[in-house]
Amino acid sequence: MPEQITRTTCPYCGVGCGVIASRDTSDPTGVIKISGDPDHPANEGKLCSKGMALAETFATSHRLTHPVIDGTAASWDDATSLIAKQFQSTIEEHGPQSVGFYVSGQLLTEDYYVVNKFVKGWLGTANIDTNSRLCMASSVAGHKRAFGSDTVPGCYEDLDSAELIILVGSNLAWCHPVIYQRIIKAKAVNPGLQIIVIDPRRSITADNADLHLAIKPDGDTLLFNALLRELHRRGLTDTNYVRDHVSGYEEAIAAAGQMDNEDIADHLGISLDDLNRFLNLVASNERTVTIYSQGVNQSRNGTDKVNAIINCHLATARIGKPGMGPFSITGQPNAMGGREVGGLATMLACHRDLDNPTHQSQVQRFWKSPRIADKVGLTAVDMFKAIDNGEIKALWIMATNPVDSLPDADSAARALSKCPFVVVSDVTTRSDTLSYAHVALPAQAFGEKDGTVTNSERRISRQRRINEPLAQARPDWWAVARVAQKMGYVQGFDYQSPAEIFTEYAQLSAFENNGCVDFDIGACADMTESEYNNIRPFQWPLIPGQSITPSTQQPIRFFANGHFYTPDKRGRMIPVTSGTPGNQQLNDQFPLILNTGRIRDQWHTMTRTGYIPRLMGHRAEPFVEINPSDALIHGIVDADIVSISSPTGTTMARAMLSDRQSPGQLFVPMHWSNQFSGNARIDTLIEAVTDPVSRQPASKNQSVSVQRFSASTYAFMLCRSEPDLTGVTNLEYWASSPVEQGWRIEIASSMSISELTQALLTIVYRPDDQKDASDLSQLEQVDYRDGKTHRIAWFKPSERLHALLYLAPTTVETSRSWATGLLKNQFNSHATRWQLMAGRAASDQPDKGAIVCSCFNVGDKEIANAVKSGTCASTEAIGQTLSAGTNCGSCRNEIDVIVRRHNTQRETSSHYS
Ligand code: SF4
Repeated sequence: MPEQITRTTCPYCGVGCGVIASRDTSDPTGVIKISGDPDHPANEGKLCSKGMALAETFATSHRLTHPVIDGTAASWDDATSLIAKQFQSTIEEHGPQSVGFYVSGQLLTEDYYVVNKFVKGWLGTANIDTNSRLCMASSVAGHKRAFGSDTVPGCYEDLDSAELIILVGSNLAWCHPVIYQRIIKAKAVNPGLQIIVIDPRRSITADNADLHLAIKPDGDTLLFNALLRELHRRGLTDTNYVRDHVSGYEEAIAAAGQMDNEDIADHLGISLDDLNRFLNLVASNERTVTIYSQGVNQSRNGTDKVNAIINCHLATARIGKPGMGPFSITGQPNAMGGREVGGLATMLACHRDLDNPTHQSQVQRFWKSPRIADKVGLTAVDMFKAIDNGEIKALWIMATNPVDSLPDADSAARALSKCPFVVVSDVTTRSDTLSYAHVALPAQAFGEKDGTVTNSERRISRQRRINEPLAQARPDWWAVARVAQKMGYVQGFDYQSPAEIFTEYAQLSAFENNGCVDFDIGACADMTESEYNNIRPFQWPLIPGQSITPSTQQPIRFFANGHFYTPDKRGRMIPVTSGTPGNQQLNDQFPLILNTGRIRDQWHTMTRTGYIPRLMGHRAEPFVEINPSDALIHGIVDADIVSISSPTGTTMARAMLSDRQSPGQLFVPMHWSNQFSGNARIDTLIEAVTDPVSRQPASKNQSVSVQRFSASTYAFMLCRSEPDLTGVTNLEYWASSPVEQGWRIEIASSMSISELTQALLTIVYRPDDQKDASDLSQLEQVDYRDGKTHRIAWFKPSERLHALLYLAPTTVETSRSWATGLLKNQFNSHATRWQLMAGRAASDQPDKGAIVCSCFNVGDKEIANAVKSGTCASTEAIGQTLSAGTNCGSCRNEIDVIVRRHNTQRETSSHYS
């Protein structure tokens, strides 16, 4: 069968998995199959649930197809002319600091490079920051303090040979599933491998750990300071390495403090035994990798946390050697590429420093630019404050959704509403930020874009075009270059292809480098277009003279023998004070700590993954995890709707009682936007507090209160087309999610049952097209009421269910997996239609429960029943019987938990029977 194969890179997270997209060219439907690339070193053929569902994002609904000016379709020529004119006049009138750019780790390196060059070299400001500021700026700052450069020292291969892997502030099983599966595989090969998880929350990642330390929020610095002091006390530091390559040892030991271990354990909220186990495991395992992620970075002392971790690795020389090193794992697919091109307001291109006159001169001379930014620009939170207070008057946002993702998100929205000129480049019409745009530009989506990305282990891979770009969608680099040229900057922006941009970028990386800067891909400087198109994933550095097509590239590590990028070439241990774990802002009004994070099958603010039914099937609603003891105190039971408040706002979510949360702490996912919910943008609750060094916002330790929402009516609804609930008033809570062949909606409202029914008829009778309109006039309605509940179903003449509405004065109790399956059924008799009025599945219709395996659509009740019936006693047996967990493997941990729980119950009941 003729097949067209494209090797590309997943656009979701910093693991950077290689993807193979294949199309049977004889198939007129043009269906594309996605699989993991077995030859890509980052994933060796594996993909997680999000990666496996990539082909489902190619559907063209909700795409921004043409430029829009003030709500009216426009040409690219008009749009770019207007942008050029507005930015030019703003700069002429108010100076270069009056404009800003807020970009994204979703951009390809080529896009990132061109926009940075334009802003820092031609506009003369460094007011360009990326949403990666919210993700890993503390790691960048920590690296720079310790190494003199933003260098990730190790690589994924270290996970295969480590004896001990410490995961700090990382729910790796859900956020970076392919790396997590690699660790689980390493443990299967070497059962002696020890895994420690440090996280206030018992995440799914902690379930397979040998030791879980549920420390108090922001206790990481105290813990790693305790470790440093203990390693010193036991004589386990590497005195030769420290003598030859490291400064600041004595100061860091002194700053680590004198508190005894009993007090430390007490401050951290863990047992002394667990603390000692941690110290002993690190002391006795030289090959230690410490992986850290958002739980470390997104903190008011994130940079200190990073340096506390790195201090331990520098002191023991456990860095840059196989199986050891500190390892920051990035959230976004090209967060690393953004760091390399200087996408942060605090850096210049190619790891050159903004505050270094030599670097300024190098970059300006290489670019031949009229000017060069010479002072740090506004970082994300400060940039939006500057918009709010009128300092920034023209803003260009690319590939990000700050109205949902910035802290104090309502203030960010207010700032945008006041900004005189806002440009938004995006692929979708369904971003909450787009409604603030004066000019909207259609960007190319994954599968249309063409360029490079860098993953967490410094591996540069190609993202290649799979589909022709939709309508007028254009690359972001092209849009920036057009605007630059219209501002009169022709020289420097006459690019014809991403290959041209990449080779220029490679030339800059090598320009007057001579080993002074870590980032050097000079080997690619003279690459031809064809070589660029065919380049295989490679780790940097790849210096001039090295082959750009190595058959096998050995892993590249840094700092095993020193050679840091500080002026004296020595690594720096940074004295960091431990601070007080917990939250000092708690009070009677806001007595609980809110932690935010990601869930397994969603990406960012759901603009791509939210429209894929099988990904939404895992968690269909915004939820708040709350410890049962807190729920009791606040009068909350499982599945209640609750409101959560902080000094900056209020949101609502479904309560999920769980002892994964420590008492006094809540967890809410960060994904929900106004496109999928009425009132669940969690970043409205997060105060805009930033780390003083990295300026990264703290998103995981917010003081809040929680209250049960006492609705008059609760509703569960199914409908055929995407509902628009924005015009319905008094819907205090709603959440919608796509299901196969329709949509599902959950509602809690202060309206009465009859008022709410009336209000929702607009959804039932909204025609999608002319045929639909005639069908709607012939809908058959089946209706059932008792004293408390009201159930209605509408059927089309085709005998298909058109809509279903269950209403009740308490939470609607019906199996969601059964109900959402009804949209696929045929109802060809009155009796089958009436069965829906029972509100539950008939006994011959098994209930799957909530979806656990999104690849094979297997629910938790199916898995539980297989264990309870004795059919399966292990995750492997579940895989053999139900296929669950046998494809991408992202759900294997959840299956493990269900199997363990029901195996225990079976054993207990057989013991007492
Ligand atoms: Fe994509 Fe998943 Fe790989 Fe991340 S782990 S790059 S989301 S397939």
